[in-house]
Amino acid sequence: MSELDRDALKQEMIFWRRDLHAHPEFGFEEKRTAAFVAAKLREFGLDDVTEGVGGTGVVGTLKRGSGNRSIALRADMDALRISEQSDAPHRSGNPGIMHACGHDGHTTMLLGAAKLLAEQGGFDGTVRFVFQPAEEWGRGALAMLDDGLMQRFPFDEIFGLHNMPGLPIGHFETRAGPIMSAEDIFEIVLKGLGGHAARPHAGNETLVAACALVTNLQTIVSRRLSPADISVVSVTELITDGTRNALPGLARILGDARSFRPEVSAEIERQMRIITEGTAAAYNVTAEVDYSREFVPLRNDAELVDAAFAAARSVFEPGNIAVAREPMTASEDFARFLDYVPGCFVFLGNGEGSAPLHNSSYDFNDDGLLFGTNFHVAVVRQRLGGEAGR
Ligand SMILES: [Zn+2]
Ligand SMILES: [Zn+2]
Repeated sequence: MSELDRDALKQEMIFWRRDLHAHPEFGFEEKRTAAFVAAKLREFGLDDVTEGVGGTGVVGTLKRGSGNRSIALRADMDALRISEQSDAPHRSGNPGIMHACGHDGHTTMLLGAAKLLAEQGGFDGTVRFVFQPAEEWGRGALAMLDDGLMQRFPFDEIFGLHNMPGLPIGHFETRAGPIMSAEDIFEIVLKGLGGHAARPHAGNETLVAACALVTNLQTIVSRRLSPADISVVSVTELITDGTRNALPGLARILGDARSFRPEVSAEIERQMRIITEGTAAAYNVTAEVDYSREFVPLRNDAELVDAAFAAARSVFEPGNIAVAREPMTASEDFARFLDYVPGCFVFLGNGEGSAPLHNSSYDFNDDGLLFGTNFHVAVVRQRLGGEAGR
């Protein structure tokens, strides 16, 4: 690809990315985004473009040569319910919704790869371009899988990427084994008898019990789980029905737990139930625990990680390619695909000056677009045995 072509593609991709950014849509509501993606894929001349997979998902298929191996590349399309703080001309035009996780960039980078691979080939086999809805709720990948993704559009392995604020543009990181955590969520409801603030002894209010419980829950990670297992239990909300001069009869405690092994997740739930029951008994209130699993842990396949590093060496400067030091305690819906095929998830720099993900000032950095596109293309050629640039 000449410098001129490269610059033309970058300009085109910036235009797509900002268009997507200005029209963010929440999970399973990505109608405009999906239509945009499908129209582009058809324009690029893919062999098949199917819409409505798992709600608003889109799958594009591109075949070259006679090889029977197939690889999937995945991007996520959804935005978040956050009000964007920005003066940029491409800021969100949908009040209360914004692309605060860079999925506009991910979608654009995969579109760029579809365009390049359709134009240039350089591989032997089948590429599936998987544009999934609703990553942020952890429901979109499952919806596509439940809609027969693997039967209708089979593939042998899958690659995905996420931008990373703080990591410089043009930098690449991944690691074999666990890379992103499971996410469990919980809600604990304490019930007692509220009443006059001046007469606590006449009832059994729930606020002091809830405060004790929040403190006791801190001992799950620090005293009940092995320090060798990375895990987090965070209480994030405490809501009561009390007012300034009335003690609450109800308290709700909500939170979030992260772990990297199903056994650890199970143990967090078990310990939470024991501690909640004991604390509730000590304060003479009743308790109910609702514990559910939202995201499964993401484990990268070692062989595919090697392939990803090999592909990265043709795209990134050698000094900018690194093994991620430790797994992240954030979660990714991409993990759901790995119940079916091996896969590899990688991180690309969004710049040191980038606002954090899910921050109202965040914006995807367009200088990263070609790196992501070129990585997708390189990984296809790496895995489906073509020659770069053919
Ligand atoms: Zn996100
Ligand atoms: Zn994201």
